[in-house]
Amino acid sequence: MNFYSTKSPDTKYSLKQAVLLGLPKDNGLFMPERIPVLPDSFFEDIEALNFREITFTVCQALLGENLDPESLKGMVQDVFDFEVPAKKVTERTYCLELFHGPTLAFKDFGARFMARLIGHILDEHDVRPCILVATSGDTGSAVAQGFYQVPGIDVVILYPSGKVSEIQEKQLTTIGGNVTALEITGTFDDCQKLVKTAFLDQDLKQHLNLTSANSINIARLVPQSFYYFQAYAKLKHLNRPIICSVPSGNFGNLMGGLLAKRMGLPIDHFIAANNDNRVFYDYLKSAKYHAKPSVETISNAMDVGNPSNFVRVMDLFHQDHHSVCKEITGYTFNDDETRTEIAKVYSDTGYILDPHGAVGHLGLKQYLSKNPESIGVFLGTAHPAKFLDVVQPLISEPVIIPDQLKAVLSKQKKATMLAASFKEFKEYLLSK
Ligand SMILES: *Cc1c(COP(=O)(O)O)cnc(C)c1O
Repeated sequence: MNFYSTKSPDTKYSLKQAVLLGLPKDNGLFMPERIPVLPDSFFEDIEALNFREITFTVCQALLGENLDPESLKGMVQDVFDFEVPAKKVTERTYCLELFHGPTLAFKDFGARFMARLIGHILDEHDVRPCILVATSGDTGSAVAQGFYQVPGIDVVILYPSGKVSEIQEKQLTTIGGNVTALEITGTFDDCQKLVKTAFLDQDLKQHLNLTSANSINIARLVPQSFYYFQAYAKLKHLNRPIICSVPSGNFGNLMGGLLAKRMGLPIDHFIAANNDNRVFYDYLKSAKYHAKPSVETISNAMDVGNPSNFVRVMDLFHQDHHSVCKEITGYTFNDDETRTEIAKVYSDTGYILDPHGAVGHLGLKQYLSKNPESIGVFLGTAHPAKFLDVVQPLISEPVIIPDQLKAVLSKQKKATMLAASFKEFKEYLLSK
């Protein structure tokens, strides 16, 4: 599989180039040159396969030219060592729980896969890469966990001091080994600016092999298509059109679903569920795209005012608004509606939604109410225990803290404090 840039479709990049560059030099986004279609027999027999078996088949179709079957099998075994269940929530809705990985959010799928893939495609001639990530919370811990103990790679995480939750800070700062946490006395934007400036700095370029693990990387996008096949495998026996609702921010997750559908997966329709950050919803309604500054909500991983994967969605649909609308319906919900939904679903069914999943469930219900023949699955992108402050007051039983989180909470924080100054950051990197 080779990749092209959305800005210059004729220039091809290898998998290794695409993964290590992150972004093409022309500032477009990488797209797969060709999307393979899986045979009918795969979909006929899919219910008999477990998640790793499904993933291996999909992965081989996508990356089989780049990696030998044994390596791929090893990677899939290693990366996806947690369960991916579909839980029934109401009569017609199911939650595909993507939060049973080490950091309890779906970002584990992309980050862990990317880490193993990079570990695999590097050879002894390559300069040891240093992965830089700025994080406002979830991404940093997934990347840190993913790359922990991957030989030959260093990871430096920048997070804003005092601006991530206690749980998130523990997840970022207690890993150690090849992972360093930098506590920046500034905002998330300061952290992001330091990272961006570092990538442009000639000295650093000369001395360090800096690489980005942000969600734009194709190695994070590809594995986000795998679990849609799992959703289908779990719901197929119901014999009804399947609707898939995706709580969306940067639209990397939904992009994975669209990719899966192009590979032949029989998903009838997608829901893009947004919080008050609704530029995609507005685009569907008006055919006009206007990036906006993000607003804070309780589903904060979706607080994105200029979704970075919008360009990929448009590329996939050849810039045609009508085709996008045929496959995706958008909804938007505010924090009050989200809180009400968490409380209502809990009191009706006993199922505990996190704020992101609640937005997904709301979108799904609206669509299903107009499409009585369909059933639906929404993606559970984070465990409710990650959002205790929001969820706990809305339900009458204690949210159970999973073991992964408990273990982290008892560990000692280790972080280096730095001012939000590029000079200091650069000196720190060069001294490492
Ligand atoms: C990142 C994230 C999202 C948004 O996913 P995108 O791929 O950016 O659309 C939703 N929920 C949670 C919990 C996340 O961490």
